[in-house]
Amino acid sequence: MCVGCRQRSEATDLVRVAVREDDGPPELVVDGTRTMPGRGAWLHPRRDCVSAAVRRKAFGSALRVPGLTVDPDDLAEAIGGITEGNGRNGRNR
Ligand SMILES: [Zn+2]
Repeated sequence: MCVGCRQRSEATDLVRVAVREDDGPPELVVDGTRTMPGRGAWLHPRRDCVSAAVRRKAFGSALRVPGLTVDPDDLAEAIGGITEGNGRNGRNR
């Protein structure tokens, strides 16, 4: 399920994000390989889903990291190839 729009989607349509906690504060990273350990959250690679998830602090609750701060622009950039609006991401095979 997408943490932005809360709609179910095929995993192939979603991007996995996870939290990396090394030394510093917890940091949200895009899990391009989908194999990072720990809790992950899934969302559409769409700007409106990114901003909805950030606005609602959905990452903090989905990943059980209260107070996790996420910059929507940074995240959108990290996801890459993000689409504006409601279009499909165009990367389906
Ligand atoms: Zn979504």
